[in-house]
Amino acid sequence: MLRVLKFGGTSVGTLDRIQNVAEIIKKFRNQGDDIIAVVSAMSGETNKLIEYAESYTKTPKSDELDMLLSSGERVTSALLSIALNSQGYKATSMSGRQAGIVTDSAHTKARIESIDTSGMKDAIADGNIIIVAGFQGVSQDTGRVSTLGRGGSDLTAVAIAGAIEADLCEIYTDVDGIYTTDPRIEPKAKKLNAISYDEMLELASLGAKVLQNRSVEMAKKLNVNLVSRSSFTPDVEGTLITKEEEIMEKPIVSGIALDRSQVRVGMYGVTDRPGIASAIFTALADANINVDMIVQTVGVDGKTDLDFTIPTTDWEICKTVMEKFKGETENIDYNDKICKVSIVGVGMKSHTGVASKAFTALGSENINIRIISTSEIKISMIIDEKYAELAVRALHDAYELDK
Ligand code: ADP
Ligand code: ASP
Ligand code: MG
Repeated sequence: MLRVLKFGGTSVGTLDRIQNVAEIIKKFRNQGDDIIAVVSAMSGETNKLIEYAESYTKTPKSDELDMLLSSGERVTSALLSIALNSQGYKATSMSGRQAGIVTDSAHTKARIESIDTSGMKDAIADGNIIIVAGFQGVSQDTGRVSTLGRGGSDLTAVAIAGAIEADLCEIYTDVDGIYTTDPRIEPKAKKLNAISYDEMLELASLGAKVLQNRSVEMAKKLNVNLVSRSSFTPDVEGTLITKEEEIMEKPIVSGIALDRSQVRVGMYGVTDRPGIASAIFTALADANINVDMIVQTVGVDGKTDLDFTIPTTDWEICKTVMEKFKGETENIDYNDKICKVSIVGVGMKSHTGVASKAFTALGSENINIRIISTSEIKISMIIDEKYAELAVRALHDAYELDK
């Protein structure tokens, strides 16, 4: 059996933790499995490197940032390989490039274009355990190292599992699976035995960083058998992320997500002419900014207000883009003291009253909702950041997710 195992930052956060990972790998190896392990940087390392770069400038050159950030994963991949080799297990570490991962040139959030698995296959045939540095590849155009966005080692693991047709892709982290909400916020959260790709994709996209959203998208596309579990309690079964049809019990609401890393951009008194929204959002898209919720108010006297949210990481670039629209806007302001709480569940498709329950729950805690958006399987609300945790717990209670 070919297993792809991914170990996140806390799972490789110290030398002892790396040894613990080595033990997990050795156990599967002793069973006769082939193994490709993907590792993150030690926890806190990527943030530290970003801080170093930002001590010089808020907008470091993105390919240089990738050169810097990719180093964290290389450290842990080499250390894990050194540990395994020293304990009598044949292993080889590989950078993203050596693992054959080719990306586009959108540095710091590059997309994987292809994976040439021949190097990994040869190494496995040669009897090696492979340890891949997660979160990185090589840009096809520039030949420079690229990174896959925060949390991108999950994507490395899933993409490799898909490309090499592994039997299983297990994502080891510091919680033993996917819970109804972040168990750090709501201790009453319940672990799910299984969750559909679509629900997991929504939860991940809406802030549940337990899996990177692009990795879930890729798992769905390539039909990867994905499991989320803990390296701290490797004997506890995790959560299976799978096709909706495979899941027996389908609750109306499966989970609550919280995203604190959003900025609300308010454009007030925008000239209300045909094509203005297109001009603004095309400019933002051209700058690679992921615009999320958009609200436009009814125009009065040829003027309208436009509100939208963006990831905090795109704030600086967004300000530059907004410069172009100063002439057509009375005022532009930014508010990062907000957060987005979301409710996700496939059962919403066929039930009524799900949204009103959420609004009532927040209302009875005196929490004002500033923007609402819905889709088939989710409801998202922008509220003041100071109510973030209270809102999550109130919603968790309202849908009785602890039952
Ligand atoms: P890693 O470093 O292993 O990639 P992350 O920190 O990225 O780990 O993700 C794991 C964390 O995700 C957990 O510690 C937990 O606090 C958080 N989390 C958020 N939402 C959920 C959820 N619904 N279920 C489980 N964990 C969640
Ligand atoms: N080290 C990277 C990050 O912190 C990638 C990862 O851990 O998945 O975002
Ligand atoms: Mg992660």
